[in-house]
Amino acid sequence: MEKTKIEEMKEKLFYNPKHASCVINEGETEIADGFCEGYKAFLDKAKTEREAASEIIALAKANGYVEFIPGEKYSAGEKVYYNNRGKSVILCVIGKRSIIDGVKIAAAHIDSPRLDLKPNPLYEDTDIALLKTHYYGGIKKYQWTAIPLSLHGAVALKDGSVVNVCVGEDEEDPRFVITDLLPHLGGEQYKRTLKDGIRGEELNVLVGSRPFMNDECSEAVKLNILSILYEKYGFTETDFLSAEFEVVPAFRACDIGFDRSMIGAYGHDDRVCAYPAVMAALDAENPEYTIMSVLTDKEETGSDGNTGLHSSYMAYFINYLAAMEGYDGYEVIRKSECLSADVTAAFDPTFSDVLERRNAAYINKGVAVMKYTGSGGKGGTSDASAEYMGKVRTMLDNANIVWQVGELGKVDAGGGGTVAKYVANLDIDVVDIGVPVLSMHAPFETVSKLDVYMAYRAFSEFFKQ
Ligand code: MN
Ligand code: MN
Repeated sequence: MEKTKIEEMKEKLFYNPKHASCVINEGETEIADGFCEGYKAFLDKAKTEREAASEIIALAKANGYVEFIPGEKYSAGEKVYYNNRGKSVILCVIGKRSIIDGVKIAAAHIDSPRLDLKPNPLYEDTDIALLKTHYYGGIKKYQWTAIPLSLHGAVALKDGSVVNVCVGEDEEDPRFVITDLLPHLGGEQYKRTLKDGIRGEELNVLVGSRPFMNDECSEAVKLNILSILYEKYGFTETDFLSAEFEVVPAFRACDIGFDRSMIGAYGHDDRVCAYPAVMAALDAENPEYTIMSVLTDKEETGSDGNTGLHSSYMAYFINYLAAMEGYDGYEVIRKSECLSADVTAAFDPTFSDVLERRNAAYINKGVAVMKYTGSGGKGGTSDASAEYMGKVRTMLDNANIVWQVGELGKVDAGGGGTVAKYVANLDIDVVDIGVPVLSMHAPFETVSKLDVYMAYRAFSEFFKQ
């Protein structure tokens, strides 16, 4: 059909992001769907930062990566990984150019909102054994009741060994659950605000109900649970004190919709950016610049701690790269560029009143570029420069990658942050770019397959610059 002059001018002058299906390259939808099968498998294997880190390292090793040794010299094309305490990982491919030209960084996080066990979690009440939790990251507490849960953790025993525990993921495994009140007796609970519908101290995980040796002694149910744990893993109640246990949904990733266009899963935030960033690093062969995918921990609690990006581990790693060629780290860092790969809220027609239609990110409109995040007048954010936005925009357009701009919610409706500001504070150009998510931070989040693939293409293209 021939375009009218008006249509022609509109096309030329208006910003009008389209559904990815309408602008995607021939045959790319099938490629995207195939890519997402790998992503779904990754999601089911990597529900915690520890599991994600070891899965990423396994993938890296299978693709020719070797463990980074500080002080060692590496030449162009060599692939190294750096394992930070089993909770964050850097994948790096040495570039053809000198390190003094800077490095290209894609930074995503591999921790997700969840429930952590308290240090002394196990107790018994009315012949029921329960675990006390302390939630991690921003959750709507009521969403965590009456759903199947699994328990993942690492226990450091006194002899120095570490026992990994994972219960509730195998088909035959038992699951756990947090109980909720029946509606018949919910009269008082209904009067609470939604935020307090379930309180933090009510997030107690049901783990058992039969006594040890059918005995009537006190705490026999708790004793029975401890005896099961001792038999299976060799640990006692005191060993909980030196353990990290995470309670996460026991759901598996699955397709959503009659058209299978979406994926539902726990932990899309931010594995939906971490996985594409990992794949982009694995596929990077002889890059021009040195490239790094940083898969970090602790983003959901503000990036503090030695495995989070507010710590210095990434800068120290770059220092080592700089030292290989006799430079100071800061000379390399200030010339480096970063894509802060994190999710954003997708426009939800059911809750449209908190989102601003012209600047919201939409599922299926491609990877979303967020110039800034933060809240309350751009508080607590790195605001990417027009120049850097321009550079990223040109890169995406030239490669025919479907993308859109995004802003997390209406002004003063709330907000959030990412690792971008910690990267920017090192004197690096950075912008947020990621996949829009429906029901973000819920135990079961939803994303579009085409957007996931566009994230992968964006990071791959960035590494080809
Ligand atoms: Mn995130
Ligand atoms: Mn988050």
